[in-house]
Amino acid sequence: MLPPRSVLITGASRGLGLEFVKQFLQVPTPPEFLFATCRNPDNAKELQEVAKSSSSITIMKLDVSEMNTIEEAKKLVESKVGAGGLNLLINNAGINKKVTLETVTPDMMLDTFNINVNGPLFTTKAFLPLLLQAAESSTPINPSSAVVNISTIVASIALNESTTYLEYRVSKAFLPLLLQAARSSTPSNPSSAIVNMSSIMSSIARTVTSDAVEYRVSKSALNMLTKILHNELKDKGIHVGCLHPGWVQTDMGTAKAPVTVSQSVCGCIQVMSNMNAENACVLTDYTGNPLPW
Ligand code: NDP
Repeated sequence: MLPPRSVLITGASRGLGLEFVKQFLQVPTPPEFLFATCRNPDNAKELQEVAKSSSSITIMKLDVSEMNTIEEAKKLVESKVGAGGLNLLINNAGINKKVTLETVTPDMMLDTFNINVNGPLFTTKAFLPLLLQAAESSTPINPSSAVVNISTIVASIALNESTTYLEYRVSKAFLPLLLQAARSSTPSNPSSAIVNMSSIMSSIARTVTSDAVEYRVSKSALNMLTKILHNELKDKGIHVGCLHPGWVQTDMGTAKAPVTVSQSVCGCIQVMSNMNAENACVLTDYTGNPLPW
């Protein structure tokens, strides 16, 4: 998509959301308006520091589980962007309680669903008039309005099927990476392709356990929501897609994760900039690899 004039990110207080804010300031044509939203702006100290470096950043309160904060944020964005509308909404905020079939409770399911599914749904609905305004200048080849939902490979139903199927998908998807890695690697300096590959392999390995049942079910629902929104909005010039950011070193991903926030977000922004009518609604990882739903 075109370099977006305006971008809104949910969950920008830390992790991937904060890194999206930092990296959008570094792209060749940074957005004129960068709305960094979080549920407790007063506690988001690092975000406040980043905002001191650029007048394009507006920090706003937006708790994706509280409709009134979504509506207030929408009014503020509207007053700033004017007729140009909102070009890019990144539904990044999410939670993962990491519970198993043994420990999960009804409240945990509802709480997670509320933030991971209702959050992106009602945030997108609230900002739809502004996304439509931005879409008015879209062409089919180069959309000027998009919604990106941050999903995860561990919500893929296809990758939870038989081991044979898993092996088939892995070898098919990773053959080009393996060849690339073989060409550029040395024992002391493994290539980025190997790092990427090990990240996805680790994530796939994690899909076949019953861990994080509430998280994975909610993100599978987010994938379906992405399809529904895509089907509804594609003819109106808004692309809706979803991204797997890799297994990333954040509070959620833990320090054991193989991918840094910088690598992940750099890849995600690259994938977003290549988004078009054909590839928009495909579950894609941060390296641009399509993944089975
Ligand atoms: P973190 O736990 O590091 O950060 C989560 C962010 O979401 C925080 O900014 C948090 O805000 C915010 N948040 C939580 N609840 C709400 C809410 N009700 N309203 C607004 N914001 C909220 O996670 P990551 O940065 O790792 O994850 C970002 C996204 O990437 C998530 O959707 C996650 O599912 C997805 N993802 C992450 C992976 C990983 O390996 N890290 C892998 C695959 C997907 P606060 O500071 O107030 O708590």
